Amino acid sequence: MWNSPKVGILGGGQLGRMLVESANRLNIQANILDADNSPAKQISAHDGHVTGSFKEPDAVRKLAETCDVITAEIEHVDTYALEEIASKVRVEPSWQAIRTIQNKFNQKEHLRKYGIPMADHRELVNNTPEELAQIGEQLGYPMMLKSKTMAYDGRGNFRVNSKEDIPEALEALKDRPLYSEKWAYFKMELAVMVIKTKDDVLSYPTVETVQEDSICKLVYAPARNVPDAINQQAQALARKAVSAFEGKGAFGVEMFLLEDNSLMLCELASRIHNSGHWTIEGCALSQFDSHIRAILDLPIPPKSLELLQPSIMLNIIGGATPDSHLKATQAALSIPNASIHLYSKGAAKPGRKMGHVTVTAATMHEAETMIQPLVDVVDTMRA
Ligand code: ATP
Ligand code: MG
Ligand code: MG
Repeated sequence: MWNSPKVGILGGGQLGRMLVESANRLNIQANILDADNSPAKQISAHDGHVTGSFKEPDAVRKLAETCDVITAEIEHVDTYALEEIASKVRVEPSWQAIRTIQNKFNQKEHLRKYGIPMADHRELVNNTPEELAQIGEQLGYPMMLKSKTMAYDGRGNFRVNSKEDIPEALEALKDRPLYSEKWAYFKMELAVMVIKTKDDVLSYPTVETVQEDSICKLVYAPARNVPDAINQQAQALARKAVSAFEGKGAFGVEMFLLEDNSLMLCELASRIHNSGHWTIEGCALSQFDSHIRAILDLPIPPKSLELLQPSIMLNIIGGATPDSHLKATQAALSIPNASIHLYSKGAAKPGRKMGHVTVTAATMHEAETMIQPLVDVVDTMRA
């Protein structure tokens, strides 16, 4: 066995928790920086955890003292603290990658240099109605006004349908650094998980993602009715985009498939990603297994990233009542081939990701048929 490396993880939410599940199976100690009793800490009993936030430099320093390599389950971390500790401990992916990626506008400016196709966009400098109106003239309507930073689950996006929406859009995103994006008329949203290792850039099959209210609801692996050529092109585009950044580990790449079958990057994340949860049941190595292996330079046989069986992942999201997600979970118990993952986050709030369910089957049609009753239950519980 190797020399028991210790992995430090910034953030102990559901992604950190699933990383711990993978680390545990390899006897690798994962030290979590987050609040006590965070989902990841609940399944990891040792005294190496740090209490605090990934936004506090002191807490990040403290974590670094006890680890061989530091990684993050979220991109909204203090990259200045990461820059400082990088002289003493390995940080994967690099703090430079996380810093560029956590600002969606800087991420796109960077990727533009590598010829990655994406929606035309403009930076706002003053956040005034006049400035946005001028941008609207250039990009046309509708356009998507976006916060450059701290964006997730669509919180940070505002669809501007016409000039009349401008005051409301600026009010909704006030005090945030902004840019605006030309509307992407996509027929489908695709995503690819990319694994960057010390000498390779690997990818999982292309999946189809369905967002509802800008939150990921369903993931179909592989993407339905998408020819293999597009599946391969999407993987190639995702690998090319991730190659533009330094460091090892999993990266989630979101894309739009346009009417003419061309692909456009939506955004990428420097971490394990909701669009890759299906890999836990759908592949020999999950995105979490691969991330742990990549940051520790352990072998990843590329064949282990291939799809074993068609898979569908459904997010269990906090609904109208505090126990909606538990009712949905109860319904999942009776679905054949359904793997249930609850995150043990405590109280549900509308829109909060509380768990997910993955169904695998011999064919996509069969998987769709099996999961449909659960989709119906989830739909009736929407907030
Ligand atoms: P995430 O939770 O994935 O980090 P986010 O808050 O960073 O989300 P985006 O991924 O930029 O937000 O956008 C969320 C969703 O909004 C996209 O998945 C897509 O459905 C829609 N969207 C984003 N940009 C555009 C666009 N330019 N044109 C049309 N729809 C868009
Ligand atoms: Mg995002
Ligand atoms: Mg997104």
